[in-house]
Amino acid sequence: MTDSIFTRIIAREIPADIVFESDRVIAFRDISPKAPVHLLVVPKTAEFRNVVDLAAADPGLLAELVQVADQLAAQYADGEFRLVFNTGAAAGQTVFHVHAHVLAGGLGGVPLAE
Ligand code: AMP
Repeated sequence: MTDSIFTRIIAREIPADIVFESDRVIAFRDISPKAPVHLLVVPKTAEFRNVVDLAAADPGLLAELVQVADQLAAQYADGEFRLVFNTGAAAGQTVFHVHAHVLAGGLGGVPLAE
């Protein structure tokens, strides 16, 4: 199977604006932002396609994603944020390497979906 775009970012094969990195998690700015602050928080492992698989197999890693999202929302916005896991193509998922969208920075008027 070919590597996902996120695996290639993790391997530094393609550039990204990385804002956080730990042993198991990386976060970078979404290339097509849908909010004033739009970050992607991604486990480094490519073994989970979506948040359902991740939650079943490694709930601790899912909790780490949430903790990193909270930390980054405090760092880059006012600490309040929307956390989105698109799950399945019909729900808008395009990269099948689980990732959390962290949307922040004044979402009062931004609807849940366009
Ligand atoms: P999803 O549609 O939930 O699978 O989210 C994939 C996200 O990855 C989209 O919001 C894209 O804008 C974003 N994306 C795709 N390629 C890149 C890239 N090279 N760097 C940063 N974000 C990207």
